[in-house]
Amino acid sequence: MMQPMGAGPSTSIFEKEDSITGLNFVAWFFAQTQKDPNFYPLERSTITFFNVMNFKTINQRFSYQGGNEYLCRFRDELQKLFEGEKVLRAGADHLVVISLNLSVEEIALRIKLLNKAMTSYEKGLRNQIKAGIYIADGTPQQPIVMMDRASLACREVHGIFNREYAVFDEELNKKHEQKQYVLEHFDEAFEKGFFKVYYQPIYRTLNKKVCGYEALARWIDPNRGMISPLIFIEVLEKVHLIHKLDAYIIDQVCKNLRDDIDGGYAYQPISVNLSRLDFELSDIKKVVDNAVAKYNVPKEYIVLEVTESAFASDQESLGDIIHCFREDGYQVWIDDFGSGYSSFNNLQTYDFDFLKIDMNFLRNFDKTPKSKVIIASIVDLAKKLGIHTLAEGVETEDQYEYLKRIGCELIQGYYFAKPMPIDDFHNKRAELCGFETNETPAERRYYDDMGRINFLDNSPLTRKRMDVTNEIPIALIEGENRVYRTIFANKAFYQEIRSFGANDINEVLSLLTPESALYCFKRLVYSEEYNETVEYNLILNNSVVKTKVRFLSRMGTKAVYAFMAKNISAHEKK
Ligand code: C2E
Ligand code: CA
Ligand code: CA
Repeated sequence: MMQPMGAGPSTSIFEKEDSITGLNFVAWFFAQTQKDPNFYPLERSTITFFNVMNFKTINQRFSYQGGNEYLCRFRDELQKLFEGEKVLRAGADHLVVISLNLSVEEIALRIKLLNKAMTSYEKGLRNQIKAGIYIADGTPQQPIVMMDRASLACREVHGIFNREYAVFDEELNKKHEQKQYVLEHFDEAFEKGFFKVYYQPIYRTLNKKVCGYEALARWIDPNRGMISPLIFIEVLEKVHLIHKLDAYIIDQVCKNLRDDIDGGYAYQPISVNLSRLDFELSDIKKVVDNAVAKYNVPKEYIVLEVTESAFASDQESLGDIIHCFREDGYQVWIDDFGSGYSSFNNLQTYDFDFLKIDMNFLRNFDKTPKSKVIIASIVDLAKKLGIHTLAEGVETEDQYEYLKRIGCELIQGYYFAKPMPIDDFHNKRAELCGFETNETPAERRYYDDMGRINFLDNSPLTRKRMDVTNEIPIALIEGENRVYRTIFANKAFYQEIRSFGANDINEVLSLLTPESALYCFKRLVYSEEYNETVEYNLILNNSVVKTKVRFLSRMGTKAVYAFMAKNISAHEKK
């Protein structure tokens, strides 16, 4: 009786009831609304379309039986969360809720709870259920159109791991319509040369000079004006033609670079964006090599940007090709770093010259202080791994100043310049192509070397060789009834106390006079009462030792403190 699809309905979707879940089919439900206007006020409803990501894996891993069971639990959870609303089956792994009087916020909360609840049935698969919401506008409409819109909204969040749902709106509708246009006209766009390369300058934070460009594709349509790559890239990837566009962009980039060299202009390395599919659909290394040879441009002036998400495909050859590019003298940058879930994995597995921090962290720059901490941590991490950093999407002076302060080396964004066609650069030559505003190759090496210094590190001059240490002496000391022991102390701490003749915390304490011991004890109590760090200089074995103490936590009679000590006399002698 069960069909091999697993998720596939054992009954036709035009029947009333699905035999796996016992739910009514959407198609049947819609037919009733058409027959009888009083059946359900669809024109006042909200349709939420649910899609299980990777349902195929569930079927493969747990058999069709397991897949069907999963669907039944999915149904149970929906019926619990959307009590009193219509829960229907649309076929395959799609369930639909048609509700009245639930706001988007209320639905969003239920989607969150649904995903939480479903994890217990996924047996470690980390599946996600995505949703698309369509809110009817009160006028009668074709039910199937309403459903399509909900499903379209759902598709909008496929593959975006931090978004669970989308709401259908005019913008989404327009985007969908544009994609449709692209799908129908890309042949013509290739033939008639509607694709153009725009260039966005990249600047060095330390000297504000132009030190590179990113090539960004544009479709200049005679009827529609400019079409964004955010629209056409996805479509070209879907129809497996992206490599054709990218080969064209690479050719144009090399050509423009050759023209600038011949024209006696200042020129800089140019980044091109590679799609994951370029590696699958073409011999991308050969494509780049050929263009470089055709126009005889230096390889170090071609940068390949690979987005972080490209690595999610687990394609082994991708790593090899990237390695070949670098071995051969090209630069490879990782794009949109921090946008996906494989960020750290990629840094561990592959080597990159530059890391481009995902623009979304800057978008939240003024909204949450967390964004600043995250950006700084990425810069810190990159420098520890010997990778240069670039922040894109810089739109304000504040952002620029911050990035400069934390040692992010390069920036790109509307605050400095927008992407422009090549002609605009030549028209604004003095401003953009002039030698005063451009970095020379010697300056590039000079500033790249400076860029390796990590301003965020406590000991920026220590040669680290991937060893992570903190040069600030610190220990965690536990005290109980005035007896103290060390729970943790770093190397620097031991070094410091040895400089005045102590080997552990008890030896430090034994060096105290009775008065200063009493005083220290009072400081511990004070730091606990007022939750403050207390500083005091002690004389220990004729050395002046600057100490800092802070209470951290208490458990019954035990308390733990952070303890820092610096032998000032020893440092003065040095
Ligand atoms: P991307 O590689 O992350 O490129 C940066 C995007 O940020 C560009 O959008 C750029 O115009 C935009 N941008 C630059 N500065 C700012 C700013 O200060 N604020 C804001 N809000 N945006 C800024 P664009 O040109 O629309 O490109 C979108 C994406 O399309 C690119 O993201 C890239 O992934 C893809 N793409 C563009 N051209 C190509 C191409 O030739 N081949 C491939 N495969 N992908 C491309
Ligand atoms: Ca890019
Ligand atoms: Ca990017």
